[in-house]
Amino acid sequence: MIAYLERFIPDNDTDPIPQEDGGDRRHDSHSPVLPDSLGLHGSSVDSGKAAAVFASRDFGGMASVQPLALICPTGPEDIARTVRAASASTHLTVAARGNGHSINGQAMAHMGLVIDMRCLDPDLFELAPGGPHGPPSVVVSGGALWEDVLTRCLEHGLSPRSFTDYLGLTVGGTLSNAGVSGQAFRYGPQTSNVTELEVITGKGTVSLCSEDENSDLFFGALGGLGQFGIITKARILLQPAPDMVRWIRLVYTDFSEFTRDAEWLITRPDGNSFSYVEGFVFVNSDDPANGWPTVPLRPDHPFEQERLPPTAGSVLYCLELALNYRRHDLPSAVNSVVEGLTGGLGFVEGLEFHANVDYSEFLLRVKRVEQLAKAAGIWEAPHPWLNLFVSKSSIADFDRTVFRGILREGIGGPMLVYPMLRNRWDSRTSVVLPDSGGIFYIVALLRFSQPYPDGPPAEMQVAQNREIVHACNKKGFDYKLYLPHYKCQEDWKRHFGDKWAKFVDRKNRFDPMAVLAPGHKIFSRSL
Ligand code: FAD
Repeated sequence: MIAYLERFIPDNDTDPIPQEDGGDRRHDSHSPVLPDSLGLHGSSVDSGKAAAVFASRDFGGMASVQPLALICPTGPEDIARTVRAASASTHLTVAARGNGHSINGQAMAHMGLVIDMRCLDPDLFELAPGGPHGPPSVVVSGGALWEDVLTRCLEHGLSPRSFTDYLGLTVGGTLSNAGVSGQAFRYGPQTSNVTELEVITGKGTVSLCSEDENSDLFFGALGGLGQFGIITKARILLQPAPDMVRWIRLVYTDFSEFTRDAEWLITRPDGNSFSYVEGFVFVNSDDPANGWPTVPLRPDHPFEQERLPPTAGSVLYCLELALNYRRHDLPSAVNSVVEGLTGGLGFVEGLEFHANVDYSEFLLRVKRVEQLAKAAGIWEAPHPWLNLFVSKSSIADFDRTVFRGILREGIGGPMLVYPMLRNRWDSRTSVVLPDSGGIFYIVALLRFSQPYPDGPPAEMQVAQNREIVHACNKKGFDYKLYLPHYKCQEDWKRHFGDKWAKFVDRKNRFDPMAVLAPGHKIFSRSL
C-alpha cells in the first residue's frame, strides 16, 4: 500500500503536484490515489493545485514548500492512520497545520502530508463545571480557533484565563509554542492553563495524557513544536467571564521607570493588580505607523506631545493595562481600583488614555487590525517577525542596543515589550526560557509593512532581525527565541541548552522515525 502511495511522490522539489482542476475550492475530494492508499474513513485527501497552494503558504509569507497532499480529517483515528501510513513509508512526513500563522514554514511538509486541523471536530465543546476540586474547564478540538472557543465559553458566562493577543490561532498551534499575552504574568502562558490532552504520537497511537497520566507526553507536547504528537483535544481551564474592561495606556520617556512600574504591577499579590499587563515601544514622532498616533485608544483622544519633557529621547514607552469588571460595578469603585494601582506610577502626566470596552471587544481587538490590514493589502504581505524572551538582567542593555539603536526609527508595526514571571511557567514543558532570574520579558517585533516596493523589501527586514540576534549574541544577553526558527540541528541544540537531551529522548520515544512537524528542521526523517 505504502509503495503504491510513494509512486506519487515526485523525485525532486520542482516536480509539480499531481493536479486536479486547480479551482477555487480549498479541498478537492477527488484525488484518485491517496484516499485508498491511506485507508482513511471519511476524511478528504486533496492533492490538487488549490490545496497545494493553501498548504504551501503561511502568515510569514517567506517560505513555500510543496506538500504531497492536504488532508481534511473527520476524526482523530484518521489522523492516526495518516501518521501510521507515513511512518511505514520510507520518507513521508506529516505536518499538522493549525491556522497557518507561523512565520517560517513551521507547519509545512516538503512532499509530505499536511493535516488541516481546522477540519477536526469543529463542534467539540465538552464543558465541565467547576467545583471544590478545581475551576471549570472545557474540552475542545486541537484545531479549534481561540476566538470560537471564547465565543462559546461566553455563552455560558465563562472564559479561558490566558490568551494570545490575536485569537485567529488554533488551540493546538499555540499550545505547541506557549501562547502568551497580558494575562500571562498572572496565569502563565496557555500551556499552563491546560490539564489534559489527546495526542497522536509519531507512532500513530492515540494517547490521553495529563500531569498524572503519560505525563512525559503531556509536558513534551506543551511547547513541543509539534515534535512528539498532534494535539487533537485539549482540556482548557476556565473562569467566570467579566463583562467589561477598563483599558488603559500610560506613556513613559524612561525605560527604567517603565520596567520598574511594569514589574511592580506583575508582582502584586493575585487579585490586587490589573487583569492584563503589556507594554510597547514607539517612536517619538508623528509617524502614523510608528509614532504618537499609535497610542490613543480612541480617535477623539489626541496625543498631546507638548506634554513630553524636553529630555524625551527618540523612542518612548507605553504601559498597556486592563482591569476586568462587571457591568453592575459602580464606576467609582472601578476608578478607585485603577487610581490605587496607577497613583504611584511614573508615567508622563496627561499622557494617559482610558476606555471602557466589552470584554469580548477587548479580547478581539486585533481582529479589527486584521480587517484594516486586509483592506490595506498588508495582511497578505510578508511578515518577517522576530520574537524573543529576554531576561530582566539583559533588558536594559537590550533597550539601549535594539530599541534605541537598531530600531530607533520603528519597524512599521508594534514593538511589544512586557515582563512575565518564570514561576507561572511549568519547567516540565518543552518551552525554553532564558537561563536566569524570576522575571523575563517578551519582545515581539511585529512588522506590518506594505509589500515591496511600497514598503521595505522583506530581505532587508530579515537582515535587520539577524542584526538584532547577532547583537544579542555578541553582547552576551541572556535570551531565547520565542517561536524559534533555525536551519540546522546545532542551532537547535544551542537553543534548547540543558533541555536538549530530554527533547531528543522524547523524540526517540514518541516519534522515532521523525515523521512529525518537519517544517522546524530539528530532526531528519529516518528510514
Ligand atoms: P500553525 O502556524 O498552523 O502551526 C504552528 C506549529 O504548530 C507547526 O509546527 C505545526 O505543525 C504545529 N501544530 C499546529 N497545530 C498542531 C496540533 N494540533 N498539534 C501539534 N502541533 C500542531 N503568539 C503568542 O504567544 N502570543 C500572541 O499574542 C501572538 N499573536 C499573534 C498574532 C498574529 C497576527 C500571528 C500571525 C501570530 C501570533 N502569535 C502569537 C504566534 C502564534 O501563537 C503561533 O504562530 C502559532 O503557532 C500560530 O497558531 P496556528 O494555529 O496558526 O499554528
